[in-house]
Amino acid sequence: MCAVVGVFDSPRASKLAYYGLFAMQHRGQEATGITTSENEKLHTIKGKGLVTEVFDEEAFNVLRGDMAVGHNRYSTAGDDSILDAQPVFARYSLGEISVVHNGNLVNKNEVRQDLIDKGAIFQSFMDTENIIHLIAKSKKESLQDRIMETIDRIKGAYNLLIQSRSKMFVIRDRYGVRPLSMAKLPDGGYMIASETCAFDLVGAEFIRDVRPGEMLIFEKGQEPTSIQFGEPDFRPCAFEYIYFARPDSVIDGKNVYETRLKMGEILAKEQPCDVDLVLPVPDSGVASAKGYAKGLGVPFEMGIVRNHYVGRTFIEPTQEIRDLKVKLKLSPIQNLIKGKRIAIVDDSLVRGTTANQIVKMLKDAGAKEVHMRLASPQIKHPCRYGIDTPSYEELISANMSLEQICQKVQADSLGFLSIDGLVESLGKDQNYSLVSFDGNYFID
Ligand code: 5GP
Ligand code: MG
Repeated sequence: MCAVVGVFDSPRASKLAYYGLFAMQHRGQEATGITTSENEKLHTIKGKGLVTEVFDEEAFNVLRGDMAVGHNRYSTAGDDSILDAQPVFARYSLGEISVVHNGNLVNKNEVRQDLIDKGAIFQSFMDTENIIHLIAKSKKESLQDRIMETIDRIKGAYNLLIQSRSKMFVIRDRYGVRPLSMAKLPDGGYMIASETCAFDLVGAEFIRDVRPGEMLIFEKGQEPTSIQFGEPDFRPCAFEYIYFARPDSVIDGKNVYETRLKMGEILAKEQPCDVDLVLPVPDSGVASAKGYAKGLGVPFEMGIVRNHYVGRTFIEPTQEIRDLKVKLKLSPIQNLIKGKRIAIVDDSLVRGTTANQIVKMLKDAGAKEVHMRLASPQIKHPCRYGIDTPSYEELISANMSLEQICQKVQADSLGFLSIDGLVESLGKDQNYSLVSFDGNYFID
């Protein structure tokens, strides 16, 4: 989760960063922020809320300069305080820096304790703050050397953008777990973003993905330079394709929508069923449901309507009317559903809450049979590299058999895509990170 954006050498740096963050709002809705660099000074605006809520005309008057980094924060189980919003800005012996980070450091507690033992104080619970401390405390003379030393201390999945007054450093960890791409701006200059949908919005031209273990350095008046700081062991995250990324994005050479169609088609081969109609759980199940319907040769209908205005501000219904919660967001088209045998496709099953409510909703709408299909394998392990999957206790597939889950969600049948089927739909050319499914924690 989370989105990062960087703009280098553009008179519209803050606006372009803003558009990039807007295009990537799906990667985080908790908080957002931008730091720009103007000659001798960095300017930061950040706050809780959506991109369109945090930045107004006044913000852009502050965010002057021709370089910018930005961030959207995804709310996790942890702290949701404003102190956990990014960019993280600091003044230190070499001047000023601002850092944005997507990913998750697996040795954050260890590094933090070591820093605290040496007298450091922390404002937030973010692992990103470790990074800024490590840079500030380093004895190396140049920022670049300090960043190199910092990279040696941190372990995990990270995409980092570090902006000083005159430079921007772009870093993708050697596993390349989270996506990160580079583009050329129409008026010169460069843009970096978690997803290519950010480029499409501003008319930036995709150049290439940042390589695993690569550091790019952007400096005024010079072409960007590249340093390979770590041995690449490319493990792109499968969950970006399954759920997280926007369907129009291209991640490491593959269009997300097309991989989802494929997941659905392969699911139809592995878990067919005899039905009249295939419906998606909107919006996350749409592409894979389409693939599933195509694979079965059965009609596809948008049989459940989603209300897009259910925001974070909606007052939560009380316990007694919990049922209302899903109905606020999703509503079935009864005329389509009544008396039919239905296959309902979603991208993934996490706690099982959505499936449970959807099956009930379809049965209440008069469906004769409801067959639940998931276009990803069973999530049996929490991800530690930046996807917000809950602990073992909350993951339904870590605690129940297929039959038990089917019974709990009250479906007539239940079927998941296999791990092999997932890999086949993504293509066998990469060694994907499948941690949530196979529990192979390849970083420590
Ligand atoms: P469940 O209701 O089983 O807990 O979650 C399944 C639903 O959550 C699916 O519709 C899926 O699209 C969505 N989902 C999967 N992964 C994530 C995630 O990391 N964050 C959020 N917000 N939703 C997710
Ligand atoms: Mg969903």
